[in-house]
Amino acid sequence: MTTIKLHNTRTRGKEVLNPLNPDDVRLYLCGPTVYDRAHLGNARPVVVFDVLYRLLRQVYGTNHVTYARNFTDVDDKINATALARKEAGAPGTLEELVQERTEETISWYLADMAELGALEPVHMPRATAYIPQMIAMIEDLIAKGHAYADGAGHVLFSVKSYKDYGALSGRSVDDMIAGARVEVADNKRDPMDFVLWKPSTDELPGWDSPWGRGRPGWHIECSAMSHELFGDSFDIHGGGNDLMFPHHENEIAQSCCAHPEGDFAKIWLHNEMLQVEGKKMSKSLGNFFTVRDLLDQGYPGEVIRFVFLQTHYRKPMDWTDKKAEEARQTLAKFYSVLMVPGEYAKPGSRGVYLNTDVYQPDEKIVEAIADDLNTSKAISRLHKLYKEERYQLLIGSMVFLGLLNEETDIDHLSRPEGSSYSAWTGNLGQYVSILEDARKSAMEKKDFSEVDRIKALLIDAGIEVRMSKAGVELVPGPSFDASKLDAI
Ligand code: AMP
Ligand code: ZN
Repeated sequence: MTTIKLHNTRTRGKEVLNPLNPDDVRLYLCGPTVYDRAHLGNARPVVVFDVLYRLLRQVYGTNHVTYARNFTDVDDKINATALARKEAGAPGTLEELVQERTEETISWYLADMAELGALEPVHMPRATAYIPQMIAMIEDLIAKGHAYADGAGHVLFSVKSYKDYGALSGRSVDDMIAGARVEVADNKRDPMDFVLWKPSTDELPGWDSPWGRGRPGWHIECSAMSHELFGDSFDIHGGGNDLMFPHHENEIAQSCCAHPEGDFAKIWLHNEMLQVEGKKMSKSLGNFFTVRDLLDQGYPGEVIRFVFLQTHYRKPMDWTDKKAEEARQTLAKFYSVLMVPGEYAKPGSRGVYLNTDVYQPDEKIVEAIADDLNTSKAISRLHKLYKEERYQLLIGSMVFLGLLNEETDIDHLSRPEGSSYSAWTGNLGQYVSILEDARKSAMEKKDFSEVDRIKALLIDAGIEVRMSKAGVELVPGPSFDASKLDAI
């Protein structure tokens, strides 16, 4: 059996994965707070942990891996979007508007992540469905002397009561206070103490509890949900490294104090952050965009995924248009092997029909991924397989890496080399309209010289012009040159 080695944040080294139960390897990833569309950075942990999930399924068997990723569906940001809608005159109670917002955000999220080739986890628990478990865990923590109620609807975790606090990130409590914005509040016995439960107003979502109507803090959600699904100990816990402190330190403190007989998560895996064109992604820099923005601009999900896989998950990764274009060209080359009719695949209803039972990934690619998810090494190997014309292994490996599935739109990816995305996707539409308008006025004037002129320029730019009663279709050919379009 393939040995899997993963970098454990807690021990700061690569470790061999020895599952607690090889018949049920358990993986938990902190999921999104569902108040808006996922931005490109949010997609990074999803792709990284999807690669890990696929590896575990390959090594331990499809039905022997349980992957859970939660939805945080109770949060101030969600409430704020609902409030804004209500103020704008939307019908319904605030609670209904909150629910509407979380439902739509969850469906967007699942659709966007599916486009990136991410398999759906086995469990996708929503925090609001686990409130009784959270309340029970908080009561247990109070009973064991690790938490206290302030008498005004809050319950706080006493960080001093857990001697190993900070062990995950390997920092002292003082360092952590200095490096983070720790909220000092009158009701805290110690500035590091954090909220397990807080009061809620009548209009906003809230649940009855021994401390009054209220709602859970963020950290207790993951502790309660992972315990309900996986028990006291499980194999791997993941998230972006921005979650290491305080979120993951707090999860560990809660879970280990409530269930001291268990280990909580054995291995902690953290992905580094994503940047855009060398800069932190932020709304103020104007380089902030969602996964859906990119998909709408015509970047196929496979291209986005391929760019992600080129950088190791523990290194910062930079999203650039140049990388996306190179990825598109590489994938088009790899996918071209599917075009051999009947040989490896055949056209499906949307994309390609792949008989995944007959394809197996290349062993060296599985080994590379098993070595702390060395995705860039796996990609080098894809190039080698292509060069050596080992097409069946190439296809099997692309399926394994999530770069090819039955929905993959091969035609869209195989556009001619050298043409830019905007020319390929968006801008050709404008020439369709120009040509259609010219044809309309030509029919009125009975003079087709303008239509002929535009057609000739399009053909000169390497575009096949198909005109029929139904409309105009422009199909770029192998010699397509977007720069020539300027002449129109
Ligand atoms: P949030 O909804 O903000 O809690 O984030 C959901 C997930 O996205 C977490 O695992 C974060 O670590 C991750 N994340 C947020 N921003 C980035 C980024 N720029 N690069 C990589 N991961 C990110
Ligand atoms: Zn979490």
